Amino acid sequence: MNETNYEIAIIGCGPAGLSAAINTKVRGKKLVLLGSEFCTPKLHKAPHVNNYLGFHSIGGEELRQKFLGHVKAMGIEILRSRVTGIIPQDDGFAIQARDKIFYARAVVLATGVSVAKLLPGEEEKLGLGVSYCATCDGGLYRNRTVAVLAYSPEGIEEANYLAGICRKVYLLPLCKGSQEMRSKIHEQVEVIADQKPLSIEGDNLVSALKLSHRTLEVEGVFIIRDAVLPDKLVPGLEIENGAVKINRDLSTNIPGLYAAGDNTGQPYQLAKAVGEGQVAALNAVKYIDNK
Ligand SMILES: Cc1cc2nc3c(=O)[nH]c(=O)nc-3n(C[C@H](O)[C@H](O)[C@H](O)COP(=O)(O)OP(=O)(O)OC[C@H]3O[C@@H](n4cnc5c(N)ncnc54)[C@H](O)[C@@H]3O)c2cc1C
Repeated sequence: MNETNYEIAIIGCGPAGLSAAINTKVRGKKLVLLGSEFCTPKLHKAPHVNNYLGFHSIGGEELRQKFLGHVKAMGIEILRSRVTGIIPQDDGFAIQARDKIFYARAVVLATGVSVAKLLPGEEEKLGLGVSYCATCDGGLYRNRTVAVLAYSPEGIEEANYLAGICRKVYLLPLCKGSQEMRSKIHEQVEVIADQKPLSIEGDNLVSALKLSHRTLEVEGVFIIRDAVLPDKLVPGLEIENGAVKINRDLSTNIPGLYAAGDNTGQPYQLAKAVGEGQVAALNAVKYIDNK
């Protein structure tokens, strides 16, 4: 097994993903934990948590630190890499995370709930000019004009990367903190502030991005959010009522792929996320042991 080959990959570093990670480690499996820059904004924002057993009236941030400390104490590293694609293969999964591909025999999807509303045209044009990863797909847009919708600060890095490849790069900074990051934007990137993206246009391939006050003629639109909807991450994944469709053992319709936490549906609660992280991990372990 080389350094990018794992038995279990866990995607997401919220309570569900962290719980899945410690339980996978306890079972002695080789794991990779892929998460966002900040694990996890939801817990950080919770002013007081009163319903997590053993921690009456604890602040969300304090509990977050305890969770992260637990994982660190067990020697588990969080690789800060936004996953943009999980492709089922004959004996496992290929996981695309920025410029790296990881391989795992089973996956626990613990990405939380994405509240992002898709832009009109986004779904239809995915792969036809819409992409969620510049470092993966940027090469396809060499000498072309593209736009980057930066809903997360990572979008600024992605725009800078594209500036070295594309003829023209527009950047819409749509996230908090982007003001402070302005000095880091490559001089060849044209920043378009105070405009809302309305829709992605084109007959077949993308030809334009419609904004509130103008239209950009572009051949590519890179949409960089912290979270990608589960069925956009994993082709063929079944969704029911807006959540990943799961069986009692937290398996999904794709063999070897398990889901845990808010992405499996309500209630959106910590104890459920932590419990499901454990169940999903233990069943993923069982799955690979039985193979
Ligand atoms: C303000 C607030 C207060 C709350 N208070 C309570 C409370 O008192 N009690 C309670 O029980 N619950 C509370 N909750 C709910 C609780 O925080 C959630 O149920 C819990 O965090 C869900 O955990 P999760 O791991 O499923 O998802 P999340 O916590 O959302 O974690 C998912 C993580 O995965 C990362 N991620 C997503 N996609 C990718 C990707 N493609 N690649 C890499 N990383 C990715 C995300 O960035 C995130 O860090 C509260 C929530 C909020 C917002």
